[in-house]
Amino acid sequence: DSVFAHIVQAPEDPILGVTVAYNKDPSPIKLNLGVGAYRTEEGKPLVLNVVRKAEQILVNDRSRVKEYLPITGLGEFNKLSAKLIFGAESPAIRENRITTVQCLSGTGSLRVGGEFLARHYHQRTIYIPQPTWGNHIKVFQLAGLSVKYYRYYDPKTRGLDFQGMLEDLSSAPSGAIILLHACAHNPTGVDPTLEQWEQIRKLMRSKALLPFFDSAYQGFASGSLDGDAQPIRMFVSDGGECFAAQSYAKNMGLYGERVGALSIVCKSSDVASRVESQLKLVIRPMYSNPPVHGPSIVATVLKDRDLYNEWTLELKAMADRIISMRQQLFDALRARGTPGDWSHIIKQIGMFTFTGLNKEQVAFMTREYHIYMTSDGRISMAGLSSRTVPHLADAINAAVT
Ligand code: PLP
Repeated sequence: DSVFAHIVQAPEDPILGVTVAYNKDPSPIKLNLGVGAYRTEEGKPLVLNVVRKAEQILVNDRSRVKEYLPITGLGEFNKLSAKLIFGAESPAIRENRITTVQCLSGTGSLRVGGEFLARHYHQRTIYIPQPTWGNHIKVFQLAGLSVKYYRYYDPKTRGLDFQGMLEDLSSAPSGAIILLHACAHNPTGVDPTLEQWEQIRKLMRSKALLPFFDSAYQGFASGSLDGDAQPIRMFVSDGGECFAAQSYAKNMGLYGERVGALSIVCKSSDVASRVESQLKLVIRPMYSNPPVHGPSIVATVLKDRDLYNEWTLELKAMADRIISMRQQLFDALRARGTPGDWSHIIKQIGMFTFTGLNKEQVAFMTREYHIYMTSDGRISMAGLSSRTVPHLADAINAAVT
């Protein structure tokens, strides 16, 4: 008998498992709204033009080699990533108070940040929003932190439970780590307003709570890279410390290249440099050093004015298509006279709509309409097109009536 005979079958990942089920369905009308990846109007994955151009530049450069990167990744990429998220004029960059290390996309950045905190920070509790991206819990628990929730989403209003959020942050112990979605909160699509962010910032600073921003959708929420970075920049401009995990999966369409960065904003360049030395000790035994192709693409785009401008246009086009899908779905439900208030579809921000459909309704839509989504009722607007909106609207209409 196998020495592994006792091993039990593990459950599918709740998000990636949706695609597994979708792939098994032979129906020609099947629709995958589970995956958090952009699709064109034709339902195809998109490689951005600027990415193709950057790859061409890299291929043509015969001086490029495949040597190992340093433990902290490609230096040029790290500098450009910090500028992108904190702003080119950020005093914290000028004062050399930020350490930025290349990590394996957003997930890897969260994990490295989590392990650093578990080793070196006096508070081992991280508060995450209820609900949040499902992977947050395991990433931080396995990093060695203990995970608690703060109230975030109010199912009654399908909006922010701002009062509940402030209450929970107020009662968190001093120094606790607070995970904040920088923009386009996943799965709810509900973000605080800038005024609310300012209140959150004041409260957190007064209680010495440590902000850990997860920025997986910069530029994807509003179509503006600077606009979507506003909350982070508010926290940096007060001079306080914070963490930021960046991903280029969505905004540059580099999902499988696994390219991201972790930045830690410190009070002085001296502290930042010691922090970086410890980050290396976290990374080295985990994966030694990160891959070179993805960050080279990003650096090529970010440092060239023309490519950068072209990227912002392509990014805006993706964001606009998603916003137009919201309107089309909303209109289609109204045209069908579907009972209920569906205005949250056009109010929510980013890649996902948190429909408010329950588990049974989701199962019904999968069974009867071959539409796949996570059981919490989250649908990816990026997976939708003008052609498929009527099918989805029919399914929602049938599920709720
Ligand atoms: N954080 C949030 C909120 C996300 O939605 C995602 C991806 O769906 C990630 C982080 C991590 O993505 P990746 O590791 O592909 O960059």
